[in-house]
Amino acid sequence: MSDEENLREGEEISGNAPSRGARLSVTATPIGNLSDLSPRARETLAAADFIACEDTRTTGNLLRRFGIARPLLAYHEHNEQASAAGIAAKIAAGAHVALVCDAGTPTLSDPGFRVVRECRRAGLAVESVPGPCALIAALSVSGLPTNAFAFHGFLPPKSAARRRFLEENRAAKMTLAVYESCHRIRAFAEEIAETFGEKRVVCFARELTKLHETVLTGTIGEVLPRLSGKNLKGEFVVLIAPESFVL
Ligand code: SAM
Repeated sequence: MSDEENLREGEEISGNAPSRGARLSVTATPIGNLSDLSPRARETLAAADFIACEDTRTTGNLLRRFGIARPLLAYHEHNEQASAAGIAAKIAAGAHVALVCDAGTPTLSDPGFRVVRECRRAGLAVESVPGPCALIAALSVSGLPTNAFAFHGFLPPKSAARRRFLEENRAAKMTLAVYESCHRIRAFAEEIAETFGEKRVVCFARELTKLHETVLTGTIGEVLPRLSGKNLKGEFVVLIAPESFVL
């Protein structure tokens, strides 16, 4: 039996993995379905001295659903520098801070990155409490190659800049992954068809883990006509397979 198999539940794999004391716990929360909050995430949130979040209303609602009441610290785009330093200072003084975002895994296309960097710079303990992530959920159900992928977060809102991105990545050897607003989803699909041709394989993953979860995988020529009506509402991850890929 390997050393890892010998580990008891909750035991540390190495001395690097903090599980108590002053630290930042980077904690994933659901991307829709509340049952996806892991027992460990729940325990971490309930035990933290502070919960650092993007939006105190969104996180407050989540915590109320689970009967958790802990002091919230808001970090966001406009004050995050100050907040990142403030959060690191609290940990340096002995606090256990759980970092969450509005949905999913913190630091993936949300401002939590600076909080983690600040803690790393200060040599503070940072632990992972992993869980839901829209990017990984979309890849895992898409049927597109996952052995190599490039995540580009949110593309620029202007069509010309998105077309430039597509041109630059026409020959990418890996799956391209982006987060896109529902307001631009139809336009983006048309840009993909115009730039890459009708045969390029794509996946439009909508409202993952929610009541209206819809995963449209196929060539862009097949998927584009299905992007209408209710299929244009909600949150999307868009994946584009490499040119050589056929379903
Ligand atoms: N940190 C998050 C994560 O782990 O996926 C993502 C945060 S980012 C600010 C929010 C974007 O993620 C949305 O605009 C959408 O593109 C994508 N997203 C979040 N939840 C989703 C869901 N349930 N289904 C599809 N996409 C989702």
